[in-house]
Amino acid sequence: MQTLEQLIARARAYRADKFPEQQPHYQRLVSEGQSPKILMIACSDSRVDPTIIFGAEPGEIFLVRNVASLVPPFQPDTACHGTSAALEFGVTNLGVEHVIVLGHGYCGGVAALLAGADKDRTSSDFIGPWLSSVAAVRDRMLSEYPDLPQEEAERQLEFATVRQSVENLRSFPWIAERVEKGTLALHGWHFDIAKGALRDVGDPAAPELISG
Ligand SMILES: [Zn+2]
Repeated sequence: MQTLEQLIARARAYRADKFPEQQPHYQRLVSEGQSPKILMIACSDSRVDPTIIFGAEPGEIFLVRNVASLVPPFQPDTACHGTSAALEFGVTNLGVEHVIVLGHGYCGGVAALLAGADKDRTSSDFIGPWLSSVAAVRDRMLSEYPDLPQEEAERQLEFATVRQSVENLRSFPWIAERVEKGTLALHGWHFDIAKGALRDVGDPAAPELISG
């Protein structure tokens, strides 16, 4: 799909071919509202589409996508916190039962973090400051494993930023409270776009959820 005309043509084909069979489902979602059980934070990367990976239907995943699948720490101030607002709505209004942070292989945001994009505040308006929320994760990894080859360092940092994002989820009081009560579970997953493998990065010793 290269042009806007092609985009609109695909929407026209979807309306004509697929929407009619899905319309009763959409009608139910309109009359009853949405009640997804899963909230997912994924990357904006066009190669990693949770709806495709998990075969999700409309109404099943409350999805947030941002650069590098990050959850910033709880920071209630006057700044515009898009990811935190989506978390608040999904957790406190929709009552999701699972929050999943989905990192992925070959993440450009994580590669930029590894390259130190957060340190050069003149090179971007928003990307550097956004990545700076996980700068300490990178610094810690590089001090513990200074000699990792580039690709391995990127993979390990992808895992580590997912783990940090899961930790940051616990800093939101209405998330911590539900986790404590057992009504909400937090997960950190990584999708390898080259192999199709899915792993739980919370337990490095655990086997892949789905092998590549
Ligand atoms: Zn990414």
